[in-house]
Amino acid sequence: MYDYDLLVVGSANADLVIGVDRRPGAGETVLGSDLALHPGGKGANQAVAAARLGARTALLARVGDDAHGRLLLDSQRDAGVDTAAVLVGGAPTGVALITVDPSGDNSIVVSPGANGHLTPKDIRAASALLAASRVVSAQLEIPLETVVEVVRGLRPGTRFVLNPSPPRELPEDVLAACDPLILNEHEARVVLGVDTGDTPEQWAEALLARGPRSVVVTLGADGALVADTAGSARVPSVKVDAVDTTGAGDAFTAALAWRLGLGESLAEAAAYAARVGAAAVTREGAQASFPTAEEVAAL
Ligand code: ADP
Repeated sequence: MYDYDLLVVGSANADLVIGVDRRPGAGETVLGSDLALHPGGKGANQAVAAARLGARTALLARVGDDAHGRLLLDSQRDAGVDTAAVLVGGAPTGVALITVDPSGDNSIVVSPGANGHLTPKDIRAASALLAASRVVSAQLEIPLETVVEVVRGLRPGTRFVLNPSPPRELPEDVLAACDPLILNEHEARVVLGVDTGDTPEQWAEALLARGPRSVVVTLGADGALVADTAGSARVPSVKVDAVDTTGAGDAFTAALAWRLGLGESLAEAAAYAARVGAAAVTREGAQASFPTAEEVAAL
């Protein structure tokens, strides 16, 4: 009865990456490596991750009428994402300017561009798409009022999943809609806004008290914690040789959202998502590292 297993509402960015020996100070110029240009942004990443696993996936986002926007649309279509709802124009495509130093540390400047012009009105205009989707996933690289409108537009029975990244405190109606709220340690601390202890179990308990029906805390190489009113449980990670963790959280979230829509329990879906996240860290890049269902099965 649903046309889509997953609708991702979120950002699409062009990632412009240059390797540097060291970062320039004010007024200084340094020479870096050749430019690498990759499709990115949390929304675009999640949509590609889900589609590559075999989920029927649509993306609701906004890109500029420019070469970066076309790159993003092409990468979505190559992965099998339905891009009919991606809006074009209003501002340049969002860009992340990334410098990477020899120790692998990133410094990033983001220009939200068109992402900042995905409006509540755009969400209302896509109400048929929301109604046709079993699960709706969002992040916070688009305006918060747009995410609020997504929550208002949900039909009974549609599951909503939120990764509050970049993190901020959230309105009650958004928190109450999350099933689950998916976040890492840093995001949990910011969303909570007050110190609530040092363990994922403590953060999850404090977060649940704010209204979400369930919470998933991702813990990198340590796996994840799932929690709902019935209690909490650790989800072990899969041991792999990590090469590049970029996009692991996006792959995990997309996989979890899809599997929940298929009817799996939170613990089952998180166990599958942990395999997807682990597979994603064994390869360089974000979207380029996301596995197919066959690759997950072989892990
Ligand atoms: P984020 O990038 O949002 O901080 P995490 O780094 O916690 O997200 O990664 C998301 C998930 O990916 C983790 O919960 C885990 O299941 C998996 N993962 C991440 N890093 C590793 C790793 N080094 N080894 C195995 N699995 C990993």
